[in-house]
Amino acid sequence: MSVITLAKQGKKVVLDKLATSPDKKVKRESAKEEFEALGAELFDLQDLQWGARLNSVLIVLQGRDTAGKDGTIKHVVGDLNPRGVAVTSFGVPTAEENEHDFLWRVHKHTPRLGEFAIFNRSHYEDVLAVRVHKLAPKPLWKARYGHIRDFEEMLAEHGCIVLKFFLHISREEQEQRLLDREKEPRKAWKISAGDWDDRRHWGDYSQAYQDVFEQTSTPWAPWTLVPSDAKWYRNLVVARRVAEALRPYRKAWQERLDEVGTRKKAELKSWRKKR
Ligand code: ATP
Repeated sequence: MSVITLAKQGKKVVLDKLATSPDKKVKRESAKEEFEALGAELFDLQDLQWGARLNSVLIVLQGRDTAGKDGTIKHVVGDLNPRGVAVTSFGVPTAEENEHDFLWRVHKHTPRLGEFAIFNRSHYEDVLAVRVHKLAPKPLWKARYGHIRDFEEMLAEHGCIVLKFFLHISREEQEQRLLDREKEPRKAWKISAGDWDDRRHWGDYSQAYQDVFEQTSTPWAPWTLVPSDAKWYRNLVVARRVAEALRPYRKAWQERLDEVGTRKKAELKSWRKKR
């Protein structure tokens, strides 16, 4: 099985054993057609959600450097109506952010009802980069798993559909992408010695991610591990998963829109009568 969704705490995964390349049964030509259809479906679902105001959607994108977080935003999220989407990137915390608890900077970017929020990196860096680079003592970052579970549960109780994606690339693919950045003028601006430096911590990051999946996979905020060496397959998997998660809400959103529409029409009718 090449795509794994984890919706329960406690399951151990070994990243080195998971595929980073596409499922051989999926052909690129048919994927293109499916991806286009999913884009149209997501646009439609977003439209219903926007009007119904019963739920919101939070998409968390995590992955090693060059895993394709930006590309996923461009291609998958790019199909949505920008009116209802906010993308936030989380880099090294500022001094002000560091003087607050780790969820402070994140919480204010969570979506309001009707909206989509996309996190390019997230509160998970506080149990990933922070752990790997020893930026906080172990008891401090370990306690964060519980805080994260509770935080995401609270969001879900408020109607937020939380979907978390790990874009899984191989070490070889990452090297190739880093080298490509140097060669391509339009990508060279992304070069950073820090990316090469982080590569030396590949195993530490694997361990940190594995613990994240074991500790923070829940029914209300599942992780999907996406084979991401091929960009077209990565985009397809993310789009499929988002559509699959939103589809069950379609009926409730439609009913709410009908209900509100009926009420508004009645209000207008009585206003006209009174004139
Ligand atoms: P990309 O996210 O695509 O790699 P980038 O390198 O340009 O793009 P930046 O905004 O410069 O992105 O910051 C990303 C860096 O910030 C990563 O190295 C990440 O590990 C680090 N980072 C993010 N959150 C934290 C955190 N809470 N503590 C420490 N480092 C963090």
